[in-house]
Amino acid sequence: MQLGTNLPKVGSYNRAVVLEAIQASDGISRVQIAARTRLTAQTVSVIVRRLLEEGLVIEDGSAPSNGGKPRTILRVDPDAGYAIGVHFDPGEISCVLADLAGRPVARLRQPVRPGHKPDAVVRQMARAARRILREAGVADGKVLGVGLACPGPLDGDGVMMSPPRLPGWDQVPIKSLLEEHTRFPVTVDNDATAAAIGERWAGTARATPSFAYLYLGTGIGGGIFLDNQVYRGRSLNAAEFGHMTVEPDGPECYCGNRGCVEAVCCPSAIEAALGNGADHAAICAAAARGEPEARAVIERVAGRLADAAVSVVNMLDIDLLVLGGPALREVGGLYREVIATAVSSRSLARRLHAVQVETSPIAADAAAIGAASLVFHATYAPRLGALLSG
Ligand SMILES: [Zn+2]
Repeated sequence: MQLGTNLPKVGSYNRAVVLEAIQASDGISRVQIAARTRLTAQTVSVIVRRLLEEGLVIEDGSAPSNGGKPRTILRVDPDAGYAIGVHFDPGEISCVLADLAGRPVARLRQPVRPGHKPDAVVRQMARAARRILREAGVADGKVLGVGLACPGPLDGDGVMMSPPRLPGWDQVPIKSLLEEHTRFPVTVDNDATAAAIGERWAGTARATPSFAYLYLGTGIGGGIFLDNQVYRGRSLNAAEFGHMTVEPDGPECYCGNRGCVEAVCCPSAIEAALGNGADHAAICAAAARGEPEARAVIERVAGRLADAAVSVVNMLDIDLLVLGGPALREVGGLYREVIATAVSSRSLARRLHAVQVETSPIAADAAAIGAASLVFHATYAPRLGALLSG
């Protein structure tokens, strides 16, 4: 059943829509905001005045207009607020401090000792967050919160539910643990969804209503935005592209399926496919140099990813597919080429509209910047759900 809405909620929704239009642009005038959001000029003007008073938005020069007086350009004030983004990968913690424009102003990476207990790892995250804040010289009062991107699956309260690559981490209430140790509010999501939100806030998908994000890390995951809203699914575990079958007779996957994208395309599968003892980084470097064996393995893997990507595009009818995550390394361009060719020649709606395939400009830090963006998104993004009664 659809829910109704109450008028007072529309005001804060419109405020978020205007703020998003400003953040998604590289400078925008009130007239352009009205055109883009289809709000009246008066509504835009009232909301912008309030955003200026609150210091979230600044006036930054003016642009000539056709005949009339020059239009004042508005931007989000990057210094109005900060968020700490923490990406917890099984082997590493990476931490960024991002300004409100989503730009990292400080970063820190630390290895996690294998077999470390959850409580010790959370303490390490909290120390890293403190250190990065101190080094950047940003006061606590300017920090909106901590965003944490960690391996799924997660439940709605930020409890980690037996992540496959982290034995001993079942039922870990990571959100409340990190709140306790940092004394900041914590927003948590799985790493791939966080990366997609980061792309929306600060990357190549800022003004794209519907896109999918293919995240290549230790494992393979994804995130989806449909009609400007992040899609999380019934239990926060949507967009698990990594578990689409691409080789029906392929290797068994821990999920219970066979020949999953993850089982065929993740870094450890690439190492096993080449089988000469080289690690994933070395294989990617060799493929980028054009060494035939390494290149053949990466091209085959890119082909399997492309099969999955065509299905994703057919299922969602999106405008953009973004590739990101630390496992892209030097072969992002190669993946992009193979996947773009497949999508433009094999997707069903290809004659109706093009689907862009892009590598994320923030690929290496995608999950950490995404984690910081979780905080901005939770604080400022227009959410249809928030409009509804109840
Ligand atoms: Zn699987």
